[in-house]
Formats: sequence, structure tokens, C-alpha cells
Amino acid sequence: MKSKTILVTGGGGFLGSHLCERLLALGNDVICVDNFYTGSKRNIRHLLENHRFELIRHDVTLPLVVEVDEIYNLACPASPIHYQRDPAQTIKTCVHGAINMLGLAKRTGAKVLQASTSEVYGDPTVHPQVEEYWGNVNPVGLRSCYDEGKRCAETLFFAYNLQCGVPVKIVRIFNTYGPRMHPNDGRVVSNFILQALKNEDITIYGSGEQTRSFCYRDDLIEAMIRMMATPAEITGPINIGNPTEFTILELAELVIELTGSKSKIIRAPLPSDDPKQRRPDTSKAAKILNWQATTPLREGLIKTIEYFDQLLKEDPEFCR
Ligand code: NAD
Ligand code: UDP
Ligand code: UDP
Repeated sequence: MKSKTILVTGGGGFLGSHLCERLLALGNDVICVDNFYTGSKRNIRHLLENHRFELIRHDVTLPLVVEVDEIYNLACPASPIHYQRDPAQTIKTCVHGAINMLGLAKRTGAKVLQASTSEVYGDPTVHPQVEEYWGNVNPVGLRSCYDEGKRCAETLFFAYNLQCGVPVKIVRIFNTYGPRMHPNDGRVVSNFILQALKNEDITIYGSGEQTRSFCYRDDLIEAMIRMMATPAEITGPINIGNPTEFTILELAELVIELTGSKSKIIRAPLPSDDPKQRRPDTSKAAKILNWQATTPLREGLIKTIEYFDQLLKEDPEFCR
């Protein structure tokens, strides 16, 4: 395969850092752009010695001029506590960030992939979620800065495709987990694992009957790379996720079993607009990308538990 120059925005984050790693391993030059709002240099410091890797501290809400062949647009805080901390900044990142990356793609002729989200479906009334479903999103709720920001970004991607012929790709990512999730971002997998490893109470919000479908990060990265390689007429949106659905209570019980923890399960209030169920219909991804998630939750959790166990020993402050 010919070597390319690839821009990864949000490359210092959980998913972005793994994507940078994979793209480098495939022989590409990688430019990682991040303002470290939620990402960490810890995620990419092992890449800094690689002469094919370049790091730029930059906020995607501002214009960026670089010459690239492909753009993966991942810059955006992804967990509810971070994207709700500064809702206006979240919307700016989604919308201005998308406009700048599309402007860059238009000028350079680069292909551009948007990391969209299952949140575009909101609290879904169609189950499992198919790409044709338009969603059930509260436009003024606590989650709306992210949900509507990501919906607007999708609209922008289609507008630049239709109007200017920019080759765009949209993947709608469902809950993804794995090593390098931020210990303090409040997501359910990292919370439960850290609570279990510390033998602290495991906090289930609401009844625990709400469901999510958890995809291991390696499966997701593979799907993103396959999506970028599709012909120009394939724009998506395409759902990427693991269709095996679990209740949050089942997840808590599995984490306790795998860690051998003494933690007890306690209940805490359910955050507003928390979706009751979520499971991707991934038949489009299977057909178009010849892809499906292959890592069972148990297997992915074991690797993630190992990571957090090590992190707790190396840097307990970072996990507070
Ligand atoms: P993350 O928070 O670890 O990574 C996001 C990265 O973007 C961070 O490094 C952050 O510093 C950076 N960033 C934020 N605002 C920026 C800005 N204005 N300019 C430059 N950089 C900025 O989250 P993640 O889980 O790796 O998510 C990556 C992408 O995937 C996000 O766009 C997210 O919406 C999407 N996504 C993730 C999931 C998931 O379950 N992890 C699900 C759906 C969608
Ligand atoms: N842009 C950028 N890098 C580039 C080209 C454009 O960041 O290499 C930004 C540019 O600043 C603009 C946005 O992308 O705000 C959209 O570009 P477009 O050409 O669509 O719009 P215009 O410049 O005509 O407003
Ligand atoms: N959740 C929970 N305890 C936690 C963190 C999250 O019960 O400590 C629940 C949360 O209310 C939601 C689900 O787990 O129903 C997934 O939450 P997360 O923030 O990981 O992702 P999202 O809601 O964006 O899918």
C-alpha cells in the first residue's frame, strides 16, 4: 500500500491514539492534532520518537493549514461529564471543527471521515438502531450540546459532499471501551473497573435495567480504517459497534466476577435524558465493510482491567 499523510484530530485521546498507532504501523505519516481538552500526552508519548509521527497542539475550532491525503476527525470530548462541562465549547468543536476539516479537505482533495455517534439517535424509539432511523433527541437537554453538535456535523459533511464533491465518510460509533480510556471521564466501563479494583462501591445509575452494547476498541479502529478505504460513493452513515446488548447491571456483575472484587453494588440517580436502550444494527457494516465486531465483552474487559490495574499501580493520582 502507498504511504499517505494522514491527519488525526483528537489523536491524543482514547480512540485517536490507537488510530495513530495503527496508521503508523501501516506505514503512513501521521499528523496528530489535539488541544488536550480531554486527551493526554501519556497516550501518545511512545509515538513521539517515531519520525513518521508529528504532534500539533491546536484547537480544531480554528483554521488549520496542512497538506494531507486523509483526515480522521475525532476531536471532541466524548463522555457526558466532559462534554457537559462547557456545552458551548462542545458545540463549537463539533460544528466549527467539522467546517474547518471540511474546508481543509476541500482545498487539499483529502478524504475526510467523521467520528459520529450513536447519540444521534438520542433515546431511541426504534430498536435496534438502523441508519435510516432519524432519532429521538431532546434539542435543549443536557446531552444536546453533543447530540445536536454531532448531528449538525453530519449535515455539514453531506453539504460539503453534495455542494463541493468532498469525499466524506461518516461512522456512527456505539459505546467503545478498552485500554487508555480516561480514568476520570465517568464512563461506565472505566468507572466500574476502577471501583472494583479499589473495592469501592459500584455506582449503578437508575435501575441498571438500561442497556448498552460495548465494542472493543481494536474492532472499532479496524472498521474505521476499512471505511476510509471504501470507494468515493460510500459515504455512510454506517453504524459501528458490537450488537451484543447488556444491561448495566449485567456489566457490573461481570466486572465484579473478573476482578474478584469485594465491591458492593449501590444505586445512584439516573442522569437526565439517559437513553434506556442502545444496540446497533450492524448489517450495513457487515455488507459494505465486510466487518463485524469479534471481541466478546469478557475478553475485552480482561484486557481493560489489566490496563487499569497497571495504571493504578504506576500513577494512582491520575486515577483519582
Ligand atoms: P476522548 O475524549 O478520549 O478523545 C477526544 C480527543 O479530542 C481528546 O484527546 C481531546 O483532547 C480532543 N479534543 C477535544 N476538543 C478538541 C478541540 N476543540 N480541538 C482539538 N482537539 C480536541 O474520546 P474518545 O472516546 O477517544 O472519542 C473520540 C471520538 O469518537 C469523539 O469524536 C467521540 O465523539 C467519538 N465517539 C466515541 C465513542 C466512545 O464510546 N468512545 C462513542 C461514540 C463516538
Ligand atoms: N480551512 C482550514 N484549512 C484549509 C482550508 C480551509 O482550516 O486548508 C477553513 C477555513 O478557514 C474556513 C473553513 O475551513 O473557515 C471552511 O472552508 P471553506 O473553503 O468551505 O469556506 P470559506 O473559506 O469559503 O468560508
Ligand atoms: N452509568 C452507571 N454508572 C456509572 C456510569 C454510567 O450506571 O458509574 C450508566 C449511565 O447512566 C448509562 C450507561 O451506564 O446508562 C452508560 O453510560 P456512559 O456514560 O458510559 O455512556 P453513554 O450514556 O453515553 O452511553
